Amino acid sequence: MSKELREFHEDVWHCSKCFCCAFINPYYLTDENYYYGCPAGKYFEFDSHHASGRMELARGIIEEEIPYPTEKMLEIIYSCTTCGLCNANCSFLKGLEPVEVIEAVRRKLVEDGIAPLPKHKKFAESTEKNHNPYGEAHKKRTRELKDAKINPNAESIYFIGCTSSYRTKDIASATIEILNKLDIDYTIMGDEEWCCGSPLFRTGQMKIAKEVMEHNINTIKENFPNAKRILFSCAGCYRTFITDYKKFELDFDIKLVHMCEFLQDLINDGKIELPKKDELITYHDPCHLGRHCDVYEPPREVIKSIANLIEMPRNRINAWCCGSGGGVKSAYNEMAISTAKERIEEAKSTKAEFLMSTCPFCQLNLAQANKQSSEKIKVLDLVEYINKLI
Ligand code: SF4
Ligand code: SF4
Repeated sequence: MSKELREFHEDVWHCSKCFCCAFINPYYLTDENYYYGCPAGKYFEFDSHHASGRMELARGIIEEEIPYPTEKMLEIIYSCTTCGLCNANCSFLKGLEPVEVIEAVRRKLVEDGIAPLPKHKKFAESTEKNHNPYGEAHKKRTRELKDAKINPNAESIYFIGCTSSYRTKDIASATIEILNKLDIDYTIMGDEEWCCGSPLFRTGQMKIAKEVMEHNINTIKENFPNAKRILFSCAGCYRTFITDYKKFELDFDIKLVHMCEFLQDLINDGKIELPKKDELITYHDPCHLGRHCDVYEPPREVIKSIANLIEMPRNRINAWCCGSGGGVKSAYNEMAISTAKERIEEAKSTKAEFLMSTCPFCQLNLAQANKQSSEKIKVLDLVEYINKLI
């Protein structure tokens, strides 16, 4: 079960306001232009918008010192992308995980009827009605994926996710083409796939998050009884299944595999041979995959087996967030785009031809920022790149 806010009372007192959560750990600093770590703190330029400020706000709420609601307070709590850079620094230094506290504050605000924000309420209503947060009709979910297989007896399920179903559709198509070309025994869930629950869980809307999670797990158990593995091309869905489903005690014994791990295994086992390309690629770690699931090397190994990889100054545990997570893209789009623009500039500083990632939500935001940039870099997902080579 998720912890209640009051259970973090001791933690919030242990925050020493040292501000180590705001910046890249100096040990890893390679470029003085890229020393900042907290995207919300950088954008709003107030102490309050860093993890330390949110810890203090949490203390004030727990001790009933803060008379809420105020709009500013909601902005502080909901402008956090939940990227986890503060967790990485603070858990190492002080044993604290500010993101857990911030998400507990959000749950409490929703419980008390003060949140969600209007934009977050809207995507929850859409999820109740359409099973996706984008306001799209459910029947359109897999309509364009004509070549996708539906097989109740398959051993692997490809969980597509809402973003690739309705926005970055090329990622879903590329994944399906890869699975078809490799003759993998897989199925999609078709109309039975609902939102994984990530945007609801991250914004504190637990009732509807639980409903969609229960639906997905019950459907998998009932409709796909032979499934031993779920494949994900979305880092957000993958992380949610790994870390959040268990908070509702949803019990399932199925291996969860991101496509970058799947591809790495195939390459290591000699099951696919890919041509060498003389191309320079830089890799953006999605927060969901990297800091939240500790998956850093598989995508890099896949890239290195084909092309040349060059790291951005902030990479792996210190990666700069794309800016869209935690409900920020819908509620604070300017901040999301500003954060993504900084990532685009950082990627271009490497002179790479491609900025590659493994998350459709990162890609969506990075591509929008790239469009607004005078000099462009090619933004694409690992599966799109690999699909062209198989
Ligand atoms: S959250 Fe952790 S790293 Fe940030 S100011 Fe508090 S103690 Fe320091
Ligand atoms: S999760 Fe990211 S955006 Fe939120 S406080 Fe921590 S470093 Fe800042």
